[in-house]
Order: sequence, then C-alpha cells, then structure tokens
Amino acid sequence: MLKDSYGRQIKDLRISVTDRCNFRCFYCKSATLLSYKNREEILTYEEIERLARLFLNLGIRKIRITGGEPLLRRGVEQLIARIACLADVQDLALTTNGFNLYQKAQILREAGLHRVTISLDSMKKERFEAITRSKDFDKVLKSVEAAKQWDLEPIKINCVVVRGINDDEILDFAEFARSWDLTVRFIEFMPIDEDEDWSQDRVVTGAEILEILQTRYQMVPRGLVEPSATARNFDFADGRGRIGLIMPVSQPFCGQCSRIRLTADGKIRTCLFSLIEHDIKSLLREGADDSVLTEFIQDTVVKKEAGHRINEPDFVPPPRTMSYIGG
Ligand code: SAM
Ligand code: SF4
Repeated sequence: MLKDSYGRQIKDLRISVTDRCNFRCFYCKSATLLSYKNREEILTYEEIERLARLFLNLGIRKIRITGGEPLLRRGVEQLIARIACLADVQDLALTTNGFNLYQKAQILREAGLHRVTISLDSMKKERFEAITRSKDFDKVLKSVEAAKQWDLEPIKINCVVVRGINDDEILDFAEFARSWDLTVRFIEFMPIDEDEDWSQDRVVTGAEILEILQTRYQMVPRGLVEPSATARNFDFADGRGRIGLIMPVSQPFCGQCSRIRLTADGKIRTCLFSLIEHDIKSLLREGADDSVLTEFIQDTVVKKEAGHRINEPDFVPPPRTMSYIGG
C-alpha cells in the first residue's frame, strides 16, 4: 500500500504520454511554441507498462492517461491495451481535447479503455476557436457523440471557467449535460498556465457557478462516493445530466488527495504544484530491478506535499505547466 507521511493513501496514478499538444488553450499554453522533449527522452510504452505494473502492485487502482494531448501519440491504444491487461486496474480513463477521438473511440474501447473525459470550454464555435486557438470545434462535438456510441462512459466534459471569457455559458453547459445525459465538470482556473496570466479575480468559484445553476435548476448534491474525489457532484432533480464542481482554488481538496503523476519524460510528481520532480527514468534506464524501483516509488510518495499553496502570499508556480506535467 502507498501511504504518504500525512497518512493519505495513494490510489490514483495519472500518466502523461506526451508533452505535445495541437491546441493552445490560453489558460494552459502560450500561443508560441516552446520546445518539446525529444523522442528518446520520452518513456517508451514498455517502460510505462512496467512502471504502471509496479504502481498497481503498490495499491494504485485508478489510472488516467493524459498529456499534452494523449491521442497525438502514435499507437496509444497499444499502451491502453497493455495497461488494461494488468491486474487490479479498476478504472482506466483518458483525458483528451477530443480533436480525433471520434476516429479512435472504437479502437480505444476495444483496447480496454473504460471511459473518457473531454475538454470543452465553450459551446460557441468562434469562442472555442479563440480559447483553444484551434479550428476543431465540430470534431470535438463529433467526439462526444462517438464516446457515447462506443460506451466510453461515464463521459465527463471538463470546462475551465474564466471570468469574462466563458462564465456566461454556465447554463448552456448545464443544458448540454442534460441533453447528452453526461457530466459537465466546471473547473476553477488554476495558476499553472504557461503565460502566467492567472489572477484571483479571473477565477469563477464553484460557489458562484452553483448559484448561477440554481437560478434555473434544483441541484441535488450527491453524497461523496470517495472522499478523495476532486469534484463535488450534483444531479438535476429530474435525474438527467450531472454537474461536477472542481474547486482547487476556493476549496482545496489536498487533505484527501490520493493522486500521483508520472510525466512523459519519466519524472514522478507528488503534486500538480510540486516544485521538484523525482527522476525514475534514469533508474529504469540504468537497469534497476523491480525492487529498487518499488522502493524509489515508496520513498517518493512519502515526500508528497501537505497541499498546494495557491492561496499563500509566497506561492511559486511550478517550473513546468499543465500540458508538460499531465493534467
Ligand atoms: N490535452 C488534454 C485535454 O485538454 O483534455 C489533456 C491534458 S489537459 C492539461 C488536462 C486538463 O487540464 C484539461 O481538462 C484542461 O482544461 C485542464 N487545464 C489546463 N490548464 C488549466 C488551468 N490553468 N486551470 C485549470 N485547468 C486547466
Ligand atoms: Fe488545451 Fe489540453 Fe492542450 Fe493544454 S494540453 S493546450 S488544455 S488541449
């Protein structure tokens, strides 16, 4: 079992398979491209599978494949198939911007993927294009449809709400959740953007979002399925559609955090906001055996921070931002 020094059990692993992305969401990446890692710096599928197996042996039960844009990496379905075959994977999910999921939904499902989370920040095509600096709005909607068709459920839509940008669309997203009978998760904007343009006043809090939802709907809070869940979940009174509020800024959930991350270039991160990373790739490539790697993972987990420090005056953003870490 993986336990940190605060007694939190670590059960949830996020694996980034690439630092590359074809979108440039303003709250995540700069408009201009910084450099990407070279191919040889990125963990191979064999290496990822081996580490995933060791993490699972230590009590990890949920694995999320992310990036960058994970569906940009060639043959990612082969990695999904390898991980899906490992013992003890209770939940295997993927987060994507949806640009080509409609082409891959079937193959991912057949490879053993359980479910998807698709990012979508606006229901308005032009605004979507301005936010993501891409032209793929119709493809993302097609991907939502494909995820339904291939039963990659429960489907979640991630919507980062930024004041003055898309906070007038909360009710439109609620209607979307209801018409597609899926979960829309509103996420508070976090200070982990490449442009360092974040400020507290641009954060639309979960409480504000709930207030807006309640002007039209009776929102029924769902009991906590898992205390470590990132979202506070709500049903609509008639049972169609669901809403999640992810509030890392206004209501940090660090005390119950069960997550750990593996970056595409083989670093373990104990927190999204960690200032340091733990290099497991070097060990792996030096030929370390499973017991050495297992011990390294255990020792790293013990170093997990008590929490992020977003709201502290001396907060320092991490040196690598969301798309390079793996959201
Ligand atoms: N490219 C994929 C995607 O966009 O779904 C996966 C990686 S992305 C980094 C994972 C999630 O992080 C997305 O849902 C995105 O909206 C979210 N994200 C990125 N930057 C963020 C920020 N500054 N604040 C809150 N969420 C952010
Ligand atoms: Fe947008 Fe995801 Fe790419 Fe970041 S990694 S720019 S959130 S699509």
